[in-house]
Amino acid sequence: MTAPRLIMFDMDGTLIDSGAVIALHMATTFRDHGLDAPTQEMSHSVIGLSLELAMERLAQCDAETAIVMAGTYRNHYRAMLAVGDAHEPLYAGALDALNRLKAHDASILGIATGKGLSGVNRILALHALADHFVTLQTPDHNPSKPHPGMILRACAETGIDPACTVMIGDTTFDMELGRSAGARTIGVTWGYHARVALEESGAHIIIEDYADLDDAIEKVLN
Ligand SMILES: [Mg+2]
Repeated sequence: MTAPRLIMFDMDGTLIDSGAVIALHMATTFRDHGLDAPTQEMSHSVIGLSLELAMERLAQCDAETAIVMAGTYRNHYRAMLAVGDAHEPLYAGALDALNRLKAHDASILGIATGKGLSGVNRILALHALADHFVTLQTPDHNPSKPHPGMILRACAETGIDPACTVMIGDTTFDMELGRSAGARTIGVTWGYHARVALEESGAHIIIEDYADLDDAIEKVLN
């Protein structure tokens, strides 16, 4: 019998392609606050952090200003949802991969994301994925990535050792989160950070397609 293992997924840039929506709301938020809008590339570089930390980095402002700007961003995001205009599709192959893993007896799935819990629950419901994940880790009750807290809490909730845990994500924040928690890491190239950055931040394996995920998990956990 295979020992239980915990498979943790990042959300934005790994499961869902939300970059365009996030860059749009970042630009509007910055203009509201009298600042030049960040480029799409700059907005993409902070996806994965908590919204407050992302604002601090992008606007190079203090924590209090970042909290106010994060509030503005959330208002724009909610206004978009209210008119049913969200476009946050799953990446190609994600659903099949999640279904394969869910059917695997020894695999327990979780989420570790910079997204707030209400946003996570909305996305999971939108894509009929709520039953796939046993543990959801967000900045609502954890420090932002790359602090190891999200993985350590998921391990504590599920009773699985970090050494039997893998963190799958598209950014250096995910690789640092996994590494610092003592977990294995898989970088994915379809998201928002470059392959070389994933390599430099300690990805154990990098994949370019969801079809390669199952093999990559077997490799990093054995
Ligand atoms: Mg991400």
